[in-house]
Amino acid sequence: MTTPLQLGLVGFGKIARDQHFPAIAATGGAELVAIASRNAMAEGLRNYHDLDAMLAAEPALDAIILCQPPEARFDAARMALNAGKHVFLEKPPGATVSEVEALIALAKARSVTLFASWHSRYAAAAPMAKAWIATHHITGVSILWKEDIRHWHPGQDWILQPGGFGVFDPGINALSILTEIIGEPVRLTSAVLETPANRQAPITAKLQLATANGVPIAAEFDFLQTGPQSWDIIVEAGRETLTLSQGGNQLAINGIAQTVTAEAEYPTMYRHFVDLVGSGKSDVDLAPLQLVADAFLCGRTITTDPFEF
Ligand code: NAP
Repeated sequence: MTTPLQLGLVGFGKIARDQHFPAIAATGGAELVAIASRNAMAEGLRNYHDLDAMLAAEPALDAIILCQPPEARFDAARMALNAGKHVFLEKPPGATVSEVEALIALAKARSVTLFASWHSRYAAAAPMAKAWIATHHITGVSILWKEDIRHWHPGQDWILQPGGFGVFDPGINALSILTEIIGEPVRLTSAVLETPANRQAPITAKLQLATANGVPIAAEFDFLQTGPQSWDIIVEAGRETLTLSQGGNQLAINGIAQTVTAEAEYPTMYRHFVDLVGSGKSDVDLAPLQLVADAFLCGRTITTDPFEF
């Protein structure tokens, strides 16, 4: 039996607690032994204030899991790769496209695995949607990704700061599913971004995109949605319709709900990460991040009412 990968995790926030801890515990071949957190302690693990201290004290670590906001990710990833560790990046993989390109080159030079995780691509119904699209002539796609920032991201000021992505923090999940299932390159054609007067990142966004073959895609991202929340992708193929809802975990075809396996995004990602390390490969797809960068590049910005949590 091979020894499980020894993991150290950085950034003991919401996603680390909600998803990474239970998913690692459920993954054969990986074991979480240490965390680096400026503010919290994890019971039963070895605790360090920062990655520097963790790397110095834990030479036997195989891989580092980075769960901080994107702005903090590059320096930590660089440090871990330079220490010869495999690296698992929470989404989005960085605050800029160019910094992730630099990490890809560094991982290659160090012969270690770099995994840019896109958890929504592991949603239960995403593979079924991909298979349906592959056998249909798609005529249009609409995306509605609308959630309440106050409910899902309480007090996360970083999300509306530069490098925090604003409404693209959830919206990039929709783009990660889209670019995975659609089967051809997607380009951005226009964008309108609404940014609160007292913040630096958009709180709503409307995007127009198109596939390489010219199929129109419209996306609406809204961080101020109260009441029912929506994480839906609707794909039209002539008179047929595929509806992927609940962030990719439910599927209906022509209005008829399909049987889908139970949601297991993070356990499936950890299985993939262990396999990547075992086979000496990396997995970094920049397509969702590039679309967000393009929206910031060419989007029209409108200043809206100030926002407080
Ligand atoms: P969070 O609750 O704010 O936690 C982030 C943690 O990162 C903080 O608790 C802090 O941990 C650490 N950190 C390091 N540098 C930081 C900085 N400059 N500003 C703020 N925190 C910093 O955020 P989260 O919701 O876990 O999100 C973290 C990442 O996971 C984001 O990229 C997000 O897109 C992604 N994600 C989140 C969700 C979700 O539902 N929340 C889902 C999927 C993916 P220490 O105090 O331990 O240092």
